[in-house]
Parts: sequence; structure tokens; C-alpha cells
Amino acid sequence: MVDFDTANLPVEFDLPVEEEEELMLPDLYVGLDAGLLAPGDGIVTDRHHASSDRYEADDPQNQIAGQISPFALSGWLRHGCEAVLQAAGASACHPGESNANFRLEDVYDRDLEAGYHEKGSCTDDVDAGCVLYDLFGGFGGSPGKLIRRPVSFSPVRSQVDVTKGEAEAHYRQLHTQVRSRNEEDGGQPLRHSTRDVVGNLVGTWKLTLREVKPEFVGLLLEAIAFLDAHSDEYAFQLGGARNFGAGMVDAEILNPLYSEAEVKCVYDRRKSPTSEMERKDELWQTQCRDKFVEALQARTARRDGELPVPDGDEP
Ligand SMILES: [Zn+2]
Repeated sequence: MVDFDTANLPVEFDLPVEEEEELMLPDLYVGLDAGLLAPGDGIVTDRHHASSDRYEADDPQNQIAGQISPFALSGWLRHGCEAVLQAAGASACHPGESNANFRLEDVYDRDLEAGYHEKGSCTDDVDAGCVLYDLFGGFGGSPGKLIRRPVSFSPVRSQVDVTKGEAEAHYRQLHTQVRSRNEEDGGQPLRHSTRDVVGNLVGTWKLTLREVKPEFVGLLLEAIAFLDAHSDEYAFQLGGARNFGAGMVDAEILNPLYSEAEVKCVYDRRKSPTSEMERKDELWQTQCRDKFVEALQARTARRDGELPVPDGDEP
């Protein structure tokens, strides 16, 4: 069984899971399904397999695969975590340094009034920081406890291993000529811009916890559920080009009771869930998931005396 770190929890944590049932923690898989994604910080591709005169586009070797950097994904996830804490009445750790040179002078103060506390101001006598600071870390001394990997993608389904945090997706480079609207210019192009996008992304993003605290799991579960439920709201879309329909992501955390074979089964279109997977889904939904969310509530309440402490015996 997983060795949970409950040092920051004011309540007992224990799962009604049999000895032989394995949790995939410290790994968690976020299932992603997006029609179009434009990660702002670009995509690493492997497109140069052949010299141009011998390039054959339909050779499977030349179908473009690559990696989506984790930075846009991480910001999206953190924003979901902030929203969950704020909805519960707690303040969220600001993602930026308080002494950073923000372009708008009052932007930091405005955020502090809208449900944020100054980044790192939560490291005090209670503990080493709020759950958000603990999980994502500060820029300086504190590295955070969540490893966020890039998502590797390929257009060839047989080359995608979802247990490694990979996805099936189709790379496109969009070219746009920005033309002058000044009549005298006759519509001449002013500049050429390109944008990297991936279409029809289906697969997993693999997260790993450096320390397995139940409240971390609770926060990630709630944040991904929140992002999924608000996927068509501008603020909770992922990456760029959001006004054009990019970044609306159906997201879920795959059942942590699954084995790797069962994770693969989720993405195998020839297979449907086994009865064992259905049993695990029932067990997770009815007896496990809430335990992690209660741990999150307990840790948040410990910092903020105004919030109710969950009572594990209540339904
Ligand atoms: Zn904080």
C-alpha cells in the first residue's frame, strides 16, 4: 500500500481498501480530450526524418509526433486548484512574486482582494505553507511536490503509450498572412505568423507526487473535476486561441485503483471496461474519493479557522 504522509492533517486518514488492492499513487493520470489545443509556448516536433527531396508525407515515419510542454498545462491545473480553494471560502496562494514588476500597478492588490494571499505569506507557524504552496512550490527555496511532465503525442495510435503520459494527437502548423487594411497598400502582407497547434488530442498527462499527502490528491481530484465542468469558460480553457475554440478540454483523473493494463483499456477503442474495472469504479466513487476531499478540507480548515472541519462519519 501507499505510504501516506499525514503530517499536516488534523484528522485521521484511512482508506477502506483491501491490502491486495494497489493504488497507482504516487502517479496520477489526467485523461485529456481536446478538439484543438494551441499551447502558447510551442510544441517540440520530430518532423525532420528525411531530407526534403526524399520526404514522403504518407510514410508513417514522417507523420509528425512531438511533445507539448508542461508549462501551459501546469498553469491551467494551478488555476483550477485556486478556484477550488476559493469556492470553499479559503484564499489561494498568488502564483506571482509579490515584488514582481507587474505591468499594471494595482494588479497584485486587486488579486489580493479577489481571493488570493501573497505568495509564500502562508509559510508561518501553522505549517510550511498552504496546500497550494506546498504542492506547486515557490520560485525560490521551495521546489513543490508535484512533477508535471510534458505530454508526448503521436498521430499513430499504436505508438501511443497512455501509461507513460502520452496522447494521440495531430500536429498542425497554421500559417497566417497579416495583411494591411490601409486602402493604399492594396492588401499587401505585412507579416507572416505561424502558430503550432494539435488537433484531436486524446490521451493522458502523467503527474507524480514527490510526497503523497492525501490532501494533495483531494485537491487534484477537485481541480480536474472543476476544470472539466467549466471547460467552455474562457478563464478555464487551456493554452492560446481560446476565442477560436481551442483549449476546451474534457478532463478526468483516471481511477487511481486501476492497474496499468486497465489504464490502457480505457483508451483501447476495441475494448469496453471489464467487470473488475467497474468494481473498482464503484469502490473508488463510494468509499475512497471523498476521503481525499475530506483530507483537503481538513488541511484547509486547519489554516483558516472560519472554515468547517469535515466530520468523516457524516455521509
Ligand atoms: Zn499560500
